Amino acid sequence: ECGGGAEAIVPEEVARWLPRRSAHCHKNQFGRVLLLGGSRGFTGAPAMAASAAHRVGAGLVTLGVREEVYPVVAAHSRLETMVFPISDESLLASNLSRATVVAIGPGLGLDRAAEDLLALLVEENRSPAVFDADALTLFARNPGLLDRLRFPAVLTPHPGEMSRLLGRKIRDEEREEAAREFVERTPATLVLKGTRTLVVRKGESFWYNTTGNPGLAAGGSGDILLGILAGLIGQGIPPWEAAKLGVWLHGRAADLLLQAREVEEGILATEVVESLAGAIRSF
Ligand code: AMP
Ligand code: MG
Repeated sequence: ECGGGAEAIVPEEVARWLPRRSAHCHKNQFGRVLLLGGSRGFTGAPAMAASAAHRVGAGLVTLGVREEVYPVVAAHSRLETMVFPISDESLLASNLSRATVVAIGPGLGLDRAAEDLLALLVEENRSPAVFDADALTLFARNPGLLDRLRFPAVLTPHPGEMSRLLGRKIRDEEREEAAREFVERTPATLVLKGTRTLVVRKGESFWYNTTGNPGLAAGGSGDILLGILAGLIGQGIPPWEAAKLGVWLHGRAADLLLQAREVEEGILATEVVESLAGAIRSF
C-alpha cells in the first residue's frame, strides 16, 4: 500500500478542474497545445499524443515532428492536428511563442538534434511544459538542464526513466522513496507511472491513482497520457491539478474499455483515446 500521507485521487476532487463550456465559448479559451517529437521509426507516438489532447478538449493542437518523418506523420495524424516540420525555424518559433503548453518527448530521438531542441525549449519557452520519454532520458544525461527550467514543468517517467533520472535502479517497493527524493531537487510535478501512478510535488502530500488496468501495459499508453496532460494544462488547469485529473481520466478510459470488451489483452492506445469521452462523462 501507499503508506504515510498518501491520498487516493478521487473523481469528486479532480472533476471540478475541467473547464465548463459556455454557449458563447471560443476555441482560444481552450488553449494551444504544442507537441514535439517523432523521428524515424517513431511515427505513431506523437500523433497518438495529439489525438488525446484533442479528446480532452484542447482548442488547437499543433504537432512539430522531425523533418524525416514529417510527410508520414502529417498524412496519418488527425485532420484537426496542425503538423509541421521542426526544422522550419520560423514555424517553431511562432508556435512556441503562442503555445499555452508545450509537451516534448514521444519518439523525439536521443541524437544531437534532439538535445539541441530540448535545450532550445528550456531556454526559450515561457509556458508550462510536460516532459516524457526521450526528453527524460536527455535530462538524465544532462541533469544541469533540469535546474534551468523557468516555467512550471511536469515530468512523466515510467520506472525505467525514473531510474535513469536518479542514476540507480528503482525497485517497485522503492517508488515512493525515489519520488520523494527526486522532488526535493526540483519544483516540477512528478508523475511516476505504473500500477498506482504517483503524483508528487515538493511540499505536497502524496497522491496515488486508483484507475487503470494491465491492459495499459502496451506501447502507446504513455503517449496518450502525455497528450491528456498537455490538453488539460493547455486549457489553463494548473499543472499539479491537471496531473491528478489526467492520470485519473487515462486510467478510467482504460477501465471503461475493459468493462466493455472483458479482456485486457489487445487493448490499443488509440482505443483508450476514443474511450476518453466516457471517462469525462463519469463526472
Ligand atoms: P509508458 O510506459 O510510457 O507507455 O506508460 C505506460 C502507461 O500505462 C502509464 O500511464 C502507466 O501508469 C500505465 N500502465 C502500464 N501498466 C499498467 C498496469 N499494469 N496497471 C495500470 N496502469 C498501467
Ligand atoms: Mg513512455
